[in-house]
Amino acid sequence: MPRGDGTGPCGQGPGTGKGNGDCEKKAAMLAVIDAGTCVSCGACIDPCPTGALNIKEIAVVDAVKCTGCGACVDICSAGAIALKPR
Ligand code: SF4
Ligand code: SF4
Repeated sequence: MPRGDGTGPCGQGPGTGKGNGDCEKKAAMLAVIDAGTCVSCGACIDPCPTGALNIKEIAVVDAVKCTGCGACVDICSAGAIALKPR
């Protein structure tokens, strides 16, 4: 599978400006926890590739570490996580 076709991480590929634009777009997003919906199950912690999620009383996102990848959104069965523009 050739790289630079938009399927890699952030869609990056040599000689294409398009992929970099996709990456910037994703990095501009931040996971936000709905405090009233989170049941503190912890299911989102391990799937986060950057270790941006921790459990306090509810899940908490480290905005510095979050890349807006969306993995936590997909895993949260309670629907407590959304991606918002930074
Ligand atoms: S998976 Fe959802 S409900 Fe569970 S701790 Fe994470 S945000 Fe809260
Ligand atoms: S969007 Fe990605 S990087 Fe951000 S908290 Fe969720 S899993 Fe982690």
